[in-house]
Amino acid sequence: MTGNLLQQLVALGLPWLWEQRDLHRADSRELSAEEKLAFRAYYEDATLDNVRLATVEYISNPPFYTDLQSSGYPTLDISGAAGVAYIDCIVVRKSTNQQSAWWNSLLFHELVHIVQFEVLGPRRHLEVYLRGWIENGYRYDSIPIEEQARRLEARFSGQGPPFSVREAVEAGLADLM
Ligand SMILES: [Zn+2]
Repeated sequence: MTGNLLQQLVALGLPWLWEQRDLHRADSRELSAEEKLAFRAYYEDATLDNVRLATVEYISNPPFYTDLQSSGYPTLDISGAAGVAYIDCIVVRKSTNQQSAWWNSLLFHELVHIVQFEVLGPRRHLEVYLRGWIENGYRYDSIPIEEQARRLEARFSGQGPPFSVREAVEAGLADLM
């Protein structure tokens, strides 16, 4: 692999991201009326109506990781995640209990990523995400896009007053650019 690591990862990752989105969206469900109700003070109706939710046995890493790893490049392991957001489709493990209080927190967190995708667009989201990973010592926990999602999720779980996730995301991302 030659050239800039970030550019190469985006070139490999973007088609994979769309592929995952199409694959999982094809076998997914809408948010339930109950879920929409829990989030409507935070998210725009269009976001809640458009997003889809799919379940998988395991979340898998991209197949191109094998080549990257054998060339000695670091890769971002997503296989341990409880959920992941692919553009406008949330994917969670089948074993996740969708009735628990924790479920709403997980869903809230993934919806923040969906809004980040809306605000940035898929390519820019991927760039900002991966750049944050590279520039922060390849640590998943230090990725600013993840920090933003965790912070907003904590505000939601802390049961403070409702807020517009879109406004918070836009303000946070402006600081990041
Ligand atoms: Zn996240």
